[in-house]
Amino acid sequence: MAENGFLIAAEGVTKTYQTPDHSGRLVLDRIDFRLKEGEIVAILGKSGSGKSTFLRVLAGLTPPSEGRVVYRGQEITAPAAGITMVFQTFALFPWLTVLGNVELGLEAQGVSRDERRVRALKAIDVIGLDGFESAYPKELSGGMRQRVGFARALVVNPDILLLDEPFSALDVLTAETLRGDLSDLWVEQRVPTKGIILVSHNIEEAVEMADRIVVFGSDPGCIRAEIPDTLVRPRDWASPGFRQIVDQVYGLLTTTPQGVVGRRARGEVGAPDAGIGYRLPSASIQQLIGLIEALCYPPYSGRADLPHIAEDTQISDEDMFGLVEAMQLLGFGNASGGDIDATPCGQAFAEADLQHRKQIFADQIVKNVPLVAHIRKVLDERPGHTAPETRFLAELEDHLSEEEAQRVLETVINWGRYAELFAYDYDRGTLSLENP
Ligand code: ADP
Ligand code: MG
Repeated sequence: MAENGFLIAAEGVTKTYQTPDHSGRLVLDRIDFRLKEGEIVAILGKSGSGKSTFLRVLAGLTPPSEGRVVYRGQEITAPAAGITMVFQTFALFPWLTVLGNVELGLEAQGVSRDERRVRALKAIDVIGLDGFESAYPKELSGGMRQRVGFARALVVNPDILLLDEPFSALDVLTAETLRGDLSDLWVEQRVPTKGIILVSHNIEEAVEMADRIVVFGSDPGCIRAEIPDTLVRPRDWASPGFRQIVDQVYGLLTTTPQGVVGRRARGEVGAPDAGIGYRLPSASIQQLIGLIEALCYPPYSGRADLPHIAEDTQISDEDMFGLVEAMQLLGFGNASGGDIDATPCGQAFAEADLQHRKQIFADQIVKNVPLVAHIRKVLDERPGHTAPETRFLAELEDHLSEEEAQRVLETVINWGRYAELFAYDYDRGTLSLENP
């Protein structure tokens, strides 16, 4: 039995990663969280808000910098047996069959050969892979491979399952089927698992699966809100109760207190990575233009319900979070309570022709994105008006991880090129001022 009515708890968990300039990067800020026995909790939050880090800390794979994790009454200090993670994609061994890949989960535990086989066959059966025991990974579709991953996780009879976006790499129908099968296993108690934490970037998936939804805020990662989800199962995506929770979560994920996005990016309010190191959302120009046009023209005419316009424009939730952040950052729109309004500047952009759009876009990014202003200044001052991209990458890495620095640089190059503020030579890896 779980002591004190919870399976696992995070108490004041803080996580700081080292940065090249040694200032440290606060990724999780005093997280208090409890998972009760029999509960599925979904975690939603923007990319980079620390969701994966939080799961790793819960699993004992990464130590917290402060605070502690308590699992069944014991503080966790090493990877905990009983807690298993499932990832977006699995590294399956290509030279092992499905059976071999699943048995692997048990080898580390010193389970005898015969028992390994029996348990692996059962896990394969439970997850709907029977008939494929002797198949090799290359013979399987993405959905089937992900099932092998689940079987490998389930074969150890995990007490707690930590699912890190396990359906994200699958197409919509495959994801739906696998999600449904997992729900059935859970509801019919065909797995001994006592609690599940599901990180997702799909709001509907979270509302369908969870008993409680935890919304993470970013910079630093923290728990911004918790929403109970007590809808009767099986859940109908079209029911008013379901839509109401989707709307509420959408609102929480896209609303930032008035003006804070822009002020934070410009370094005017105290965020750890304000200024040039602001983690720009990876919003593509094409999607941004599509969204602004849809928003400003009928039927929306300047104001839209975010879940509605996302569906109309076929923009995924994850892309939408980035786009809405970019809209606010650039002064094209304001989001609150799950709605978005176009600003006069956004309207002007929608109505302008191509050249004027570029002009408006250029003005807005120079004004609101310090990194753009910085790149322009460097290029203006350098003889030849050229600089290697590695120079900016190194500066960004003082604030962001390598991967994020790369992503932010790609975004800013993409935006700057559209605005015709600077040019980029892919082969040389250089930025330069556009030839007049
Ligand atoms: P999410 O899963 O919500 O997208 P992550 O937990 O992956 O967020 O990352 C949160 C932040 O921590 C990001 O800024 C990421 O770059 C940083 N980060 C994650 N792992 C490491 C690491 N091992 N070293 C340094 N920074 C890291
Ligand atoms: Mg993650």
